[in-house]
Amino acid sequence: SRSAPSKKQAASVQFRNVTKRYGSVTAVDDVSFTIEPGQLVTLLGPSGCGKTTTLRMIAGLEMASEGQILIGGRDVTNLSAADRDVSMVFQSYALFPHMSVLENVAYGPSVQGVPKRNAIEMAMEKLALIGLKGLEKRAPSELSGGQQQRVAVARALVLEPQVLLFDEPLSNLDAKLRRRVREDIRELQQSLNLTVAYVTHDQEEALAVSDHIIVMSNARIAQTGTPRQLYEEPANLFVADFIGDANIIPGEVVDVIGPTAQVNVGNVLLQLPHRNSGLGSVKLAVRPDAILLDEAMTGPLSGTVRKASYLGTQVEYEVESPIGNLFVVQYGRKEPIAPGTPVSVAFTAQRGLAVIPNS
Ligand code: ATP
Repeated sequence: SRSAPSKKQAASVQFRNVTKRYGSVTAVDDVSFTIEPGQLVTLLGPSGCGKTTTLRMIAGLEMASEGQILIGGRDVTNLSAADRDVSMVFQSYALFPHMSVLENVAYGPSVQGVPKRNAIEMAMEKLALIGLKGLEKRAPSELSGGQQQRVAVARALVLEPQVLLFDEPLSNLDAKLRRRVREDIRELQQSLNLTVAYVTHDQEEALAVSDHIIVMSNARIAQTGTPRQLYEEPANLFVADFIGDANIIPGEVVDVIGPTAQVNVGNVLLQLPHRNSGLGSVKLAVRPDAILLDEAMTGPLSGTVRKASYLGTQVEYEVESPIGNLFVVQYGRKEPIAPGTPVSVAFTAQRGLAVIPNS
């Protein structure tokens, strides 16, 4: 009998210039990316940007109109879902309501012709792995939302797919559970060394669980990077705005020396790292904690505090200044500066400030 499961090698996923059209709608437009084996990569973006279509094309539930899809180096572009060795956890869980938890999980191996005894053994093993031991006989309707989600994950894992896909897996859970379940998914992915593609529209969730994030906008990739790269070095205004909060401030590049741009911001000259900025007007994306306020007026720009909210670990400010209204976050449990107080404004050097060429 089958006891120790053969641990399959995690596979890569590669898109080469993939386009998907539905009639006159282009849902995915010339998209290329690679998910390395054993990585969790999130497809992140607003509603309608094409992330679900991308996920469904990995699964083989939608066929590419153009381009090539490879899984583990194998061209699967024209293979059906059943032949791709990929499993998907659906947003709705899609559990069979008339079957027990155990039957739900054993169903996949059974239809693949695994003898019943072995199918049950495989299912029991995955249920134990995912912390559902003792609930095997229940119907899905007798489980909490979080437990149903785990059954869906056990069912997707039971055939040990090369790639596991999640379509907005937390959207049916309440806010408190969401955090725990996303940590569970990440822990499972890391301990089993799974290749995972994960769709969400929630930037915080993406930052928390991902090795890499693919940010999509209007059927295209806006930027790909680690959570930290996207946060610290957004390549465009869309990403700067979509990931975290950013102050978008106009500036003027007056000199470029290799990787450093000299940028005039409200008559203050800043030396900032840049990617491919030329001279002329740009936007700066400035994270709220990259701005320093000082009541002693030692900074180069002057402003006035308009709003202050004490939030325990941080104080959030709205500050009126010659370069616009700024959203500023200061950490450390300080006494807030009162609204109406004049302050000076300075920028922390080279962190949380990105130069974005005008496009
Ligand atoms: P959401 O977060 O709302 O699910 P999404 O980013 O996952 O959005 P997709 O579902 O991939 O976006 O849809 C991308 C575009 O393709 C949208 O304009 C959508 O209306 C369109 N689309 C998706 N599926 C179909 C279909 N079966 N027929 C026609 N158009 C479709």
